[in-house]
Amino acid sequence: MAKINDNYLKLKAGYLFPEIARRVNAFAQANPDAQIIKLGIGDVTEPLPEACCTAMMKAVQDMGDRATFKGYGPEQGYSWLREKIAASDFQARGCDINAEEIFISDGSKCDTGNILDIFGHDNAIAITDPVYPVYLDTNVMAGNTGPGNDAGKYEGVRYLPITADNNFTAEIPSEKVDLIYLCFPNNPTGATATKSDLKAWVDYANANGSIIFFDAAYEAFITDSDLPHSIYEIDGAKSCAIEFRSFSKNAGFTGTRCALTVVPKTLTAKAADGSDVELWKLWNRRHCTKFNGVSYIVQRGAEAVYTEAGQAQTKALVSFYLENAKIICAKLTAAGLKVYGGVNAPYVWVQTPAGLSSWDFFDKLLHNCNVVGTPGSGFGAAGEGYFRISAFNSRENVEEATQRITEKFKV
Ligand SMILES: *Cc1c(COP(=O)(O)O)cnc(C)c1O
Repeated sequence: MAKINDNYLKLKAGYLFPEIARRVNAFAQANPDAQIIKLGIGDVTEPLPEACCTAMMKAVQDMGDRATFKGYGPEQGYSWLREKIAASDFQARGCDINAEEIFISDGSKCDTGNILDIFGHDNAIAITDPVYPVYLDTNVMAGNTGPGNDAGKYEGVRYLPITADNNFTAEIPSEKVDLIYLCFPNNPTGATATKSDLKAWVDYANANGSIIFFDAAYEAFITDSDLPHSIYEIDGAKSCAIEFRSFSKNAGFTGTRCALTVVPKTLTAKAADGSDVELWKLWNRRHCTKFNGVSYIVQRGAEAVYTEAGQAQTKALVSFYLENAKIICAKLTAAGLKVYGGVNAPYVWVQTPAGLSSWDFFDKLLHNCNVVGTPGSGFGAAGEGYFRISAFNSRENVEEATQRITEKFKV
């Protein structure tokens, strides 16, 4: 008799987005004339940079010509792309990362989940609360947690609350944890971490033999020149951190698919016999066995991000979303709401007024203003009392939605 992986039965049904859809549909049916604006999505809305499109069209022609056709490429990605990433994203910022330490993949979502393949099941795991749900659910699937309760909290996970009280950067745990997930600039709070915040984590990890999984999917949104874009800007990070990056949010590749994971060759963790094993070797083995590379066409598109035109166009894209975020922050503040994030990130994290729960606020915003966002409690228990508004939208929608909030929002 075939058996399933019973850990999947511990997963809570994806509740957040179906429940949002249910409430929006019920409201739309009762109010067929309402012009509902959705500021809830975590997906980009603007088209690809022209430089990327042109490079991909040329790559399609390469594939159609016997002289330039490509079959399987290197599983880790073409060296022309890895070299450019190493030089522009890391070495130019003083990070000693080389092309061999960069693994090209089809997404950070997959990589942040797949990375658990090379780790044991008896690690103590710390995640922030609220959190990008992938980090938690993939640990549940791997059997690294106990059962979950109705609030979606799992036994065996160390939750690190991120709230206004700690400036939305988690406090260092007092006990020992082995694997730590950090995401800065943060989804969903829009918070950033300073070099000294990250230095404290790197020192903790090196002192305890822990590994930090650093998700830098939103680094392109950093405008403040003092903030670190990579964890490798911090001394000591090469012996304790794996970094995840993606072309999804800086270059609009959410539907095109290209990302990268950095595993420094200096990084080790313990085998059962107590010996130190290079994580690079394990990840390389995993990647080559279970993955066959990102399409040549898409890698050429990603390479174009590093051309002069590509740099200018991705910068313009990011600036467009940041301007949306600025408008959201200004208009919501004018409406008397307290907002966080939205400066070095495409997410605005709104504190719900007058003690409203996240879902109460959702209903009021939908009913008073016909605007949809995401209840903070859907990202974790400590997100209760907060609400995420995304800057990924057209300027027209952002202006209309925020104008309505300024004029019509009532507690
Ligand atoms: C969007 C996002 C990513 C990128 O995921 P891809 O699979 O590369 O599209 C990674 N981490 C977080 C927190 C995100 O919000």
